Amino acid sequence: MTSKKLDIKVFKFGGASIKDAASIRNVAAILASYQGQQVVIVVSALGKTTNALETITEAYFHKTGKAPALLEQLKQQHLGILSELFPEKDHPVYTELNNTFVEIDWILEDEPVEKYDYLYDQIVSIGEMAATKMVSAYLNYRQIPTLWQDARDYIRTDNTYREGTVDWQLTEQKISKGIPGLLHNGFVLTQGFLGGTSENYTTTLGREGSDYTAAIFAYALQASQVTIWKDVPGVLNADPRYFPGATKIEKLSYHEAIEMTYYGATVIHPKTIKPLQNRKIPLYVRSFLHPKEEGTVIEEFTGDSPVPAMPVLVLKLKQVLISMSAKDFSFIAEDNLSYIFGILAAYRVKMNLMQNAAISFSICADQNESMQEMITELSKSFTVKINENLTLLTIRHYTESVIEKYVSGKNILLEQKSRHTVQLVYHEA
Ligand code: ADP
Ligand code: ASP
Ligand code: MG
Repeated sequence: MTSKKLDIKVFKFGGASIKDAASIRNVAAILASYQGQQVVIVVSALGKTTNALETITEAYFHKTGKAPALLEQLKQQHLGILSELFPEKDHPVYTELNNTFVEIDWILEDEPVEKYDYLYDQIVSIGEMAATKMVSAYLNYRQIPTLWQDARDYIRTDNTYREGTVDWQLTEQKISKGIPGLLHNGFVLTQGFLGGTSENYTTTLGREGSDYTAAIFAYALQASQVTIWKDVPGVLNADPRYFPGATKIEKLSYHEAIEMTYYGATVIHPKTIKPLQNRKIPLYVRSFLHPKEEGTVIEEFTGDSPVPAMPVLVLKLKQVLISMSAKDFSFIAEDNLSYIFGILAAYRVKMNLMQNAAISFSICADQNESMQEMITELSKSFTVKINENLTLLTIRHYTESVIEKYVSGKNILLEQKSRHTVQLVYHEA
């Protein structure tokens, strides 16, 4: 493998950037200024479509009878946007969109006999399929030549539905063989978040996984850069929804970005950064609302990597603190721990923090639908105590005064400090 980078750019547009007709027009305007360049465009589902499709999947699986009406509503929303973008009602995109949604109709006609995670991927993936058909057709309509490609033909995963593991070797082969030639004729546009198995079933890569898709394409193409276009000016030192005074970070090292996203900064999917770091491909986070502004660059630094000027804050809500001690009074040691971790993995509980003492072990985890079942299982061997509705605040590059500022007056249940990072679990006062 040579280290020479081709001048291919990978752009990712997420749900917020294509939530309505005006937003899609804005995306076209941004892309128009890159015409003539080699750009692979990764697009996720419109607005909150994935949440709506999750609700439809649940309704179908639990046979509430509500799935068809919910689906019709979602389809009408998409058609409404199309009617603003394409006044000519005989434009082929209408048929394409109907054909895309009909795949869900077919699923709903049958009894839900397959496993939930499998059904989830077959249904939820339609959000990305629909969005890419719409955006690609619109770009062509606006004389921006764009080739629609099916990401499932390029990104090969195993059949871990809802969290497909990428077969990097095969994926790299398929992308590097298939995509560069197409870029001579215009942009290539494909779906984020999706993969395909060797039997051609659809998988998804985990919620918010489109950023990761952009990194996979960039890695395989040895792209010169990735840009993810967001509704924020770049990576800020905190989520502006919770910290209105958050300020933009100009430059971040891959290492710092990995840490931030690992702790839960949702601006970038955590799996995105490592593949880019491995090929030293810079990642830009820029605003689709102010496309002329610079945003944040995440890249390799030689020498000391810059520490953000401000402490970095990451908030995770709806946390559960689970504390357990063995009923046979045994110490928390390797055997107990391996049993506990096995259970956590089996119930897909995402642990954000752990702490152990002689006879008790505590974890802080995201609340999930199988948590109650997991606690029942754990309770066979452990006395389990739970605290719900907690907040986990992580502060990178903390100082005592910053900790004081954010947690004073709060009821702190657990605190963990390392040299650069402090994590605090608390009840809101
Ligand atoms: P999309 O799905 O459109 O790609 P997301 O909504 O997933 O975009 O990501 C953008 C959002 O990430 C922002 O609106 C912001 O609320 C949130 N966010 C969380 N942490 C940060 C941070 N440190 N900097 C900037 N945005 C952040
Ligand atoms: N549409 C998917 C989701 O909402 C993937 C993504 O947006 O990145 O999770
Ligand atoms: Mg998102």
